Amino acid sequence: MCVVGGGVIGLAVAAALRDKGVEVTCLEHGAPGGGQSAGRTRQFRHLHRNPALIELAARARTGWLNWQERFDRTLLGSEGALRAGAERFELDALRTAGVPAVELDEQGAAEHFPIARLSQREGMIIWDPLAGAIRAAETISVLTEHLGESLQRAEVHSIAIEPSGESVTLQTSTGVHHSARCVICAGAGTDRLVRTVGLPVHQDRQAHLRLSFHAKVMPAPALPCFSDRSSDAGEIVYGLSDLGDRYAVGLAAVTTYPAVEDLALDVPHGVDHSAQCRRIVEYTKRVLPGLDPGPVDQVVRLTTTLPNHPEDGFDFYRAGPVLAIAGPNLFKFAPVIGEQMAEEATRDDASERPMIRATETGEG
Ligand SMILES: Cc1cc2nc3c(=O)[nH]c(=O)nc-3n(C[C@H](O)[C@H](O)[C@H](O)COP(=O)(O)OP(=O)(O)OC[C@H]3O[C@@H](n4cnc5c(N)ncnc54)[C@H](O)[C@@H]3O)c2cc1C
Repeated sequence: MCVVGGGVIGLAVAAALRDKGVEVTCLEHGAPGGGQSAGRTRQFRHLHRNPALIELAARARTGWLNWQERFDRTLLGSEGALRAGAERFELDALRTAGVPAVELDEQGAAEHFPIARLSQREGMIIWDPLAGAIRAAETISVLTEHLGESLQRAEVHSIAIEPSGESVTLQTSTGVHHSARCVICAGAGTDRLVRTVGLPVHQDRQAHLRLSFHAKVMPAPALPCFSDRSSDAGEIVYGLSDLGDRYAVGLAAVTTYPAVEDLALDVPHGVDHSAQCRRIVEYTKRVLPGLDPGPVDQVVRLTTTLPNHPEDGFDFYRAGPVLAIAGPNLFKFAPVIGEQMAEEATRDDASERPMIRATETGEG
């Protein structure tokens, strides 16, 4: 079996296939985790507007805890997540799914998130104690180590389904590769690749910027994941621990970032992020006064969204022996997506059947 892409999803699928006793080769043309999975951390939160995604997140959390135990490393922090500008139905949905979320008053918010000034927010402030910051770079590192020689450096140029429909041939930078089935987890490279087998995947692309700041004093407790949906400070924003005394902040709505041309694999040179940078810094000064407002680091990467979904979403695609995934904000779901795609890829009966599928609003 062949997996294309060594971001968090391809690595998770390859690891799950190996767990099923399948011989797997994962082909990655650059450094593992160097695409959309780059950076130190990602948000893990349960809160989504779509209850199916809350359930998926709860299953994924179990997967993260299993990975932690198996690899004996901290991969999911216990910082919690705080949302300002939340609605009552969101708290109810979390509780229905068994997440012990609570509403906070201003004092409670200040205790959990001392670097922030969250007074006069529209809507509720919700606290999810089971959320936290995924150690993204650490996750890529343990999965890469785990896969060993199954992970190979190669760029896949094209994929062809054999006339029998029972295997695939891949033209790659290191030669021709034959495989019974192929799972495409190539991030921004997915739509380009799957066109060769007739799968109608189209991803929109945005050049995303996330900035990191130092806390003015070493935070205790560790800083939670954060999202501000209230618009009270004029921005819809997300934030999360970037480990140690660093905190990362980005704009949540994908439309606030420059759109990038179809099929681009990377953020083009010369993309101007000065407006987004200014907005993040201004927000930080107003709402996160416990951070020193001079950015110390940044992550600039493409994000990919599916235009046919009413909100952001991800989807699975299948053409005989070829299986693919496309969409944004996949990191937090990686363990459960890995298992589900491995299950689907090893099914004898390749007929259509529903897989987990999701629609969702912006921000990781
Ligand atoms: C700044 C930022 C912040 C984010 N925040 C969050 C968050 O808080 N929570 C969350 O859940 N998600 C978040 N996301 C989204 C999440 O990081 C991505 O959805 C996830 O990392 C995608 O993983 P992937 O494996 O699908 O793609 P990628 O990590 O992009 O991996 C795809 C890999 O395929 C390789 N590839 C492509 N084409 C080929 C080819 N032809 N041959 C061989 N290899 C190929 C690429 O080199 C790449 O390494 C964020 C994204 C960004 C950019």
